[in-house]
Amino acid sequence: MNTGTALVISAHSADFVWRCGGAIALHQQKGIDVTVVCLSYGERGESAKLWKQEGMTLDRVKTERRKEAESAAAALGVADIQFLDCGDYPLQLDRDEKFRLVDLIRKVQPGFILTHSKYDPYNTDHMYASELTLEARMIAQAWGHNPGEKVLGAPQVYLFEPHQTEQMAWKPDVFLDITPVWDRKWAAIQCMQGQEHLWHYYENVGENRGNHFRRNSGGQSGGRDCRYAEGFQSVFPRTVDEL
Ligand SMILES: [Zn+2]
Repeated sequence: MNTGTALVISAHSADFVWRCGGAIALHQQKGIDVTVVCLSYGERGESAKLWKQEGMTLDRVKTERRKEAESAAAALGVADIQFLDCGDYPLQLDRDEKFRLVDLIRKVQPGFILTHSKYDPYNTDHMYASELTLEARMIAQAWGHNPGEKVLGAPQVYLFEPHQTEQMAWKPDVFLDITPVWDRKWAAIQCMQGQEHLWHYYENVGENRGNHFRRNSGGQSGGRDCRYAEGFQSVFPRTVDEL
């Protein structure tokens, strides 16, 4: 359902860029306000290049990661970006922090939510974020949680593409054409100075998913042209009036 807003729940501060930067830029362009929540900065686990610099501290890593994420968010035209700073490796939220996330979901009232795949043996923070998203969505829907507040509807949860896709039990059922905003995603990717080794990998992922878009939008009888796409796996069934 299109409520005019969407929410991205990102375990670390760069994940949203690689995995759904195109979806963010595209929906912003369509007038949907996208809020990005970074549960942590990925300060311990996803900042190796920064830690190799002499005299690096945890606070400096967090500051650098925040700056990168804010620049990337600006490149994508994100309406709002929030940093919950819950710590990473391991990412773990206590009860109060979970309720903060629920408050945020209720405030945004997203038409859809984007988050990580359910399974990721390389990065348990990612699968924790996925489980947490479903938990927070459930609480936000409960009439008995902070009675009087507006409860959440039933926004679809789209799981974005993980790293090393084939290992993650992730199977896309939606391909989104991001060709019109690819330049924005590429600009956001380049804000991730600490992870330059991933830039071309994700350009390649975009091209491959573009091929899947073309094949599934008409195949050999003539599909839609598409140079770059993002794949998503939806969690909940769709309710329709016709097929
Ligand atoms: Zn991550």
